[in-house]
Amino acid sequence: MRIRIVGGGPAGLYLAYLLARRSAGHAIELVEQNRKGATFGFGVVFSDQALGFLKDDDPETHDLIAPEMERWRDLTLNHAGETVRVDGIGFAAIGRRRLLELLERRLETVGVVPRYEARFEGEALFDGADLIVGADGVNSSVRAARDFGTTVEELANRFAWFGVDRPFDALTQTFIRTARGTFNAHHYRFSPTHSTFIVEADPTTFAAYGFEEMGEDRSAALCGEIFAEVLQGRPLLCNKSHWRRFPKLKNARWSVGNAVLIGDALRTAHFSIGSGTRLALEDAIALDAALAEAGEDVAAALALFEARRRPAVEKLVAAADASAAWYEDFPAHMELAPYAFAWSYICRSGRVDPDRLAKLAPGFVSAYRAHAGAEA
Ligand SMILES: Cc1cc2nc3c(=O)[nH]c(=O)nc-3n(C[C@H](O)[C@H](O)[C@H](O)COP(=O)(O)OP(=O)(O)OC[C@H]3O[C@@H](n4cnc5c(N)ncnc54)[C@H](O)[C@@H]3O)c2cc1C
Repeated sequence: MRIRIVGGGPAGLYLAYLLARRSAGHAIELVEQNRKGATFGFGVVFSDQALGFLKDDDPETHDLIAPEMERWRDLTLNHAGETVRVDGIGFAAIGRRRLLELLERRLETVGVVPRYEARFEGEALFDGADLIVGADGVNSSVRAARDFGTTVEELANRFAWFGVDRPFDALTQTFIRTARGTFNAHHYRFSPTHSTFIVEADPTTFAAYGFEEMGEDRSAALCGEIFAEVLQGRPLLCNKSHWRRFPKLKNARWSVGNAVLIGDALRTAHFSIGSGTRLALEDAIALDAALAEAGEDVAAALALFEARRRPAVEKLVAAADASAAWYEDFPAHMELAPYAFAWSYICRSGRVDPDRLAKLAPGFVSAYRAHAGAEA
């Protein structure tokens, strides 16, 4: 079978590797519009167990990536002059560029050479292939060329994905109120020297500061001033760090004819739950397994892929949507005192069971109970 994978992000690279590893005699073509080594953003975070799903089926890839990850246990919230620490959650992070390099290295071992600086659009995407996989991200060309029943809802808040050469000791959420509005930053280290620093502003604050008219560098400088205390004066770094609104993207159909979507092209999950990359890798695993089971029958493989994978994806996306909804209202949540605020934050995805939380984060839960009376 001739399989064309469009997009060399985590989803496309990993799918190409898995398909070639299986040596089913497929001709695999991977096209990426950017040059090798070019990508957006900084580091990505996973929950502690995030790579666990790789361990059994693909220990080589797991063992290549896992030692390169930064790890920590706690989450901290800076709000109203207080730092609340939530113990016991567990995270791991890696630079996005580094993750892609490691996946490219796995691809070399199975003899697939991606074609960089190659971009197909429209019907050219489909010429000469038996199966076309749209692993081409949020602005997917494959998705645009067929009717997948796509819906996109843009959130109102604005965010910009910066970096900084200062390693934070935990995943931290810093909430700030200035004379002109409210901000929050999601920040965590992804290497021994560097951290991701995502700044988010509600629409009123965004307009009050005039960010719309500013380029990346001026925005970075101004956000650096606003968050100077937590940044300890270090400047924010840019990498395609323009302001965006997060698109909640869904597709009624996961495949149309011989075209299928995976990763962000298929659906997005708000970055506040740190799951987009994991979902992209899991999609690749599920599609590879469905193709192995259905053999040359593309329609059967794509139907199997969707039937098996959809329930898990929908569950996670529901949690991501609930988390995104909490962030859309973060200025209102900031009216809460620090521990009540932290409790609201921890329960935002609707997945937290208080008994389980008490076992997972006993320090936080007992501090919350001790403060609840005082804050009331
Ligand atoms: C601010 C922010 C923070 C995030 N933080 C996290 C996090 O902490 N943890 C996490 O797990 N996830 C995070 N994510 C989500 C994560 O980045 C995505 O879910 C993940 O990159 C999806 O992988 P992908 O391969 O599907 O798409 P992408 O990584 O977007 O890759 C798609 C690739 O396709 C290429 N392409 C596009 N069109 C074409 C074309 N026509 N021809 C050829 N190539 C094309 C693009 O150049 C790109 O390289 C975050 C996202 C954002 C916006």
